[in-house]
Amino acid sequence: MSETADIGVVGLAVMGANLARNLVSHGYSVAVYNRSYSRTEKLMADHGHEGTFIPSSDIADFVASLSRPRVAIILVQAGAPTDAVIDQLAEHMEEGDIIVDCGNAHFKDTIRREAAIQARGLHFVGAGISGGEEGALEGPSIMPGGTPESYERVGPMLEKISAHVDGEPCCTYIGADGAGHFVKMVHNGIEYADMQLIAEAYDLLRKGLGDTPEQIADIFESWMETELNSYLIEITAEVLRQYDAETGKPLVDVIVDAASQKGTGAWTVQTALELGVPVTGIGEATFARGLSSSPLQRGASAPLESHALSIEVEDRDEFIEQVRQALYASKIVAYSQGFDLIQAAADFYGWEIDKGELAKIWRAGCIIRAIFLNDITDAYRANPDLPLLMADEHFAPKINACIPSLRQIVSRGALTAIPLPAFSSSLAYFDGVRADRLPAALIQGQRDFFGAHTYLRVDNEGVYHTEWSGDRTESRWD
Ligand code: NDP
Repeated sequence: MSETADIGVVGLAVMGANLARNLVSHGYSVAVYNRSYSRTEKLMADHGHEGTFIPSSDIADFVASLSRPRVAIILVQAGAPTDAVIDQLAEHMEEGDIIVDCGNAHFKDTIRREAAIQARGLHFVGAGISGGEEGALEGPSIMPGGTPESYERVGPMLEKISAHVDGEPCCTYIGADGAGHFVKMVHNGIEYADMQLIAEAYDLLRKGLGDTPEQIADIFESWMETELNSYLIEITAEVLRQYDAETGKPLVDVIVDAASQKGTGAWTVQTALELGVPVTGIGEATFARGLSSSPLQRGASAPLESHALSIEVEDRDEFIEQVRQALYASKIVAYSQGFDLIQAAADFYGWEIDKGELAKIWRAGCIIRAIFLNDITDAYRANPDLPLLMADEHFAPKINACIPSLRQIVSRGALTAIPLPAFSSSLAYFDGVRADRLPAALIQGQRDFFGAHTYLRVDNEGVYHTEWSGDRTESRWD
């Protein structure tokens, strides 16, 4: 086998096959291998004419067909299958060769794998990839981690096949070891929050206006002309316009109201809890999917009184605008929280993540692509150490202008029993960070009372404890 392929792809299910096709369409010669040879044969039969594929039925031949330093992208099932393929590749690879995992790995697995692979003299790149099967073929958003050295070899190819905005690739070096898969995880978490917020806006419009899904599709479509312009708003309108062929009803009315999840939202929340970062929008979105998919609890809720009332909408246009502003304000909060989590992880794991560049590569190719990300890029470009995205000079006036609407909408939801967990938590977060003083002081008092956990004083340096079970005098404990 001659060493001619520029790059190789292992795993030729939908993602791997499409990424390999994307690579050949950009002029690369691509070695392809899949555990079951039938998938390789199918790719060759259906798409072999699209460019230079070099198929192998044996992994040793596959590795031998790669030019050096060899680069092999893995797109197999996440978890144990990925470990198995890494092992097989590493057996045949040599010092300086690069294994790129584009699967949906947990970033901690990527950190572990990178250390193990480095110990064998190879490079390991954990690359998050978003955009689904269409993105893999047409141009995804790619978030590679690993060593800067390996990016020099792999980066130009990944940049070329990624989505582009104004000629700029939606792929950039993210940071060491697990950084790429980490930001992909947060991307998915933000996606959960965005989808839940849109769903709550839909619920308000449906119950408040009594409109048909198709009429609400018109409203979402009109929001594409505003700062809410995004892929998720666009597809929301399309879903709402769809009719069921069998019943003639709007499709949204025949779909069971139980949202599934594959786990990246939960990973994001777990990580946020570990790092102590409040990502309330992502958390509420994840829990809302859990509630919707709890048939036991929902089925047992009948004895509870429903306080559902119809919303009295006096001014239709004003109500629609309030919902739009509530959505925009909550979206700013959700992204602000997501970027806080990225910064906290960067500090903890020692990654140097350029948040402006990251926002830039989410502008196309991925599910959360939105006009709004241009503003985030600008905000971090102007101040890379911005401590609170929503308080940036660009966002602060916008969110300030929208908060009164969010307050109106959340109170209307509360009074008419429309569950708005993501809207409500966004407002609570805004009010929490903006509060001059929080009741956390009382919590510190309680903790000191039952556990001598001590507290700080507003007026003096030092750590203090009150003798709660004794004479209640205060002493300094530091
Ligand atoms: P799947 O996740 O369905 O995985 C199927 C592929 O994994 C097949 O090629 C299969 O080989 C291979 N495989 C499974 N077990 C093993 C094993 N033990 N050894 C070798 N190969 C194995 O494929 P997808 O294309 O949907 O996804 C690939 C990766 O991309 C996953 O990690 C997924 O999470 C990630 N991803 C998927 C997205 C999507 O929209 N689908 C989006 C972004 C990322 P065989 O044919 O022999 O069974």
